[in-house]
Amino acid sequence: MLPNEKRFGQAILILLLLVVAGLGGYQPPSRASEKIAVAVSIPPLAEFIDSLAKEKVSVSVMLPPGASPHSYMLTPSQLVQVSQARMFVKVGSGLGFESVWMDKIIAANRDMLVVDSSKGIELIDMDPHIWLSPLNAKIMVQNIYDGLVSLAPNNETYYKQNRDSYFHNLDTLDQDIRGNLSGIENRAFIVFHPAWGYFARDYNLEQIPIEIGSKEPSAQDIVRLIHQAKERNIKVIFASPEFNPKSAQIIAKEIGGWVVFIDPLARDYMTNLRQVSAELVQAMR
Ligand SMILES: [Zn+2]
Repeated sequence: MLPNEKRFGQAILILLLLVVAGLGGYQPPSRASEKIAVAVSIPPLAEFIDSLAKEKVSVSVMLPPGASPHSYMLTPSQLVQVSQARMFVKVGSGLGFESVWMDKIIAANRDMLVVDSSKGIELIDMDPHIWLSPLNAKIMVQNIYDGLVSLAPNNETYYKQNRDSYFHNLDTLDQDIRGNLSGIENRAFIVFHPAWGYFARDYNLEQIPIEIGSKEPSAQDIVRLIHQAKERNIKVIFASPEFNPKSAQIIAKEIGGWVVFIDPLARDYMTNLRQVSAELVQAMR
């Protein structure tokens, strides 16, 4: 062995001894300072959890931006994330990828608390997009709150404070939307993907979908929609980032109108719903 190599060998040995000594004195972080790992299916649920538990949780979201919650396939690394979570929050309203994946998600982690955020919500047949109503959001937040409290009863006061302030924000949002929509007579809007059924129900609007039964419209459908739009003096056609806007563009062009994108899945839920309702008001005014 050359002198240099010998010195190198000694240095490594000392380093290893230091590491071992260090490990001996290692204390795991106390339960209270540990973040609770939570997994959720869609991005808006992440805002709900963050608002309730803030720095006390780390949230992983299964659905990536731009993916469709009706058909998304989980990756193996996402199932690993699930296996490390203490709680999983599902929408629970029959969303396609949840129906396909929930059994595998549960099998990946049988100790995990599964929260059905739809508990207590009156479902509209065939419409799983329950979160797009601030009033439903309050019920969902309450269900998530109950789950968080059962995992960490010590944090109850903290969660309750946060819940009440988020409830207040949701109530304000609801009242603002109502206020902004008051006095609008033409209350119909055309949208590619019919995600806004609960929103339309709460605010007395009429959602006219381009896509029916998750199928692209036929040529006759498009002719009918163009006719409807002209008859009802509709100028804006809404589309969303996770779907092809082509048929929306064709209709918009034929009526001399334009396409506006609205996102049903944004993580910044409150800001997004404010923006969407502003777009709707502008389109129907
Ligand atoms: Zn959808």
